[in-house]
Amino acid sequence: MSKKDYYEILGVGRDASDEEIKKAYRKIAFQYHPDRNPDDPDAEYRFKEAAEAYEVLRDTDKRARYDQFGHDGVNGNGGFQNFQDAEDIFSAFSDIFGDLFGFSSGGSRRGPRPTAGADLRYNLEVSFHDAAKGTEVDLQIPKRVPCSECDGSGSEPGHTPETCQHCGGRGQVQQTQGFFRIATPCPVCRGEGQVITHPCPKCKGRGAVKETRNIKVRIPAGVDNGSRLRLRGEGEPGEHGGPAGDLFVVIYVQEDEMFQRQGQDLLLNAEISFVQAALGDRIEVPTLDEPVQMDIPKGTQSGESFRMKGLGLPHPGSSKVGDLHVTIQVKTPTKLTKRQEELLEEFAKLEEERPRTRVRNFFKKAMGD
Ligand SMILES: [Zn+2]
Ligand SMILES: [Zn+2]
Repeated sequence: MSKKDYYEILGVGRDASDEEIKKAYRKIAFQYHPDRNPDDPDAEYRFKEAAEAYEVLRDTDKRARYDQFGHDGVNGNGGFQNFQDAEDIFSAFSDIFGDLFGFSSGGSRRGPRPTAGADLRYNLEVSFHDAAKGTEVDLQIPKRVPCSECDGSGSEPGHTPETCQHCGGRGQVQQTQGFFRIATPCPVCRGEGQVITHPCPKCKGRGAVKETRNIKVRIPAGVDNGSRLRLRGEGEPGEHGGPAGDLFVVIYVQEDEMFQRQGQDLLLNAEISFVQAALGDRIEVPTLDEPVQMDIPKGTQSGESFRMKGLGLPHPGSSKVGDLHVTIQVKTPTKLTKRQEELLEEFAKLEEERPRTRVRNFFKKAMGD
């Protein structure tokens, strides 16, 4: 009984290119696919026959041997692959079925892959003064740590995880949905490729337990609202030898009654009397440390601002320091004694005797005259 010619099976000429052979095979595989022809032995035979032909003709060496010696050149020569079922064909030609049926073989993945642990975020509220001066805080971080009983393996000591029977350790299973075959994570081992047969009693097979860890965190002087501190390796533990995640401490700075902040500069309002503004004075100004003396020059206007160099906030991680800006608010007296009133009236009379050119000029300008 003579075997059918491979070129004939695929319906191509002896001089067909690789691309033509591939195309011809795809067409036949599509036509006689078992999903499309359930319980049809003839279709199944054609499907397998085409796979066998393609298996030989797609390979340059095998094709050359077949061209020279016919079936004898490839049968029993180590190169022949006997397909038992469609599953074999799918795994052999995943390159073709990958785009034809939306299927990709699980590959040779063995065992679980190392994955990095998740990052953690901790919101930390600090006082205005602590943010300005820097401080050290103890954080209680609830986090997962590798189980000490099983060293994070999840298996009871003395046992090791076994290769998943359901997926053969691939971590993936192929499902048929209508005409399509789709690879999905194995439901038994959840894609790990291994199953824990004897779960560790402490962590119930999870490999990690929840714990509260105390971590000392140094808050650098000058941190601002929203500053993030990164503590490497203090996040969740990695899995299967992967690195631990990081812990991010996000700073929220409380407001201060006296100071406002603009970057590393401090802003402060200082009230003085109209007499101090007119005659000048030396006043006391609060700072982050001890109060300092500041000279108010004669004739200071309300809203005028004075800069005190270097009395602001330090830049974290540098030697630069911001400034303190003092904005003057001139206060108008609301309660006057009889004597004060008399003096002010006298003062007003003196003002009237002075030529009021400045005011007149202003009005001329404003009227466009
Ligand atoms: Zn599995
Ligand atoms: Zn354990």
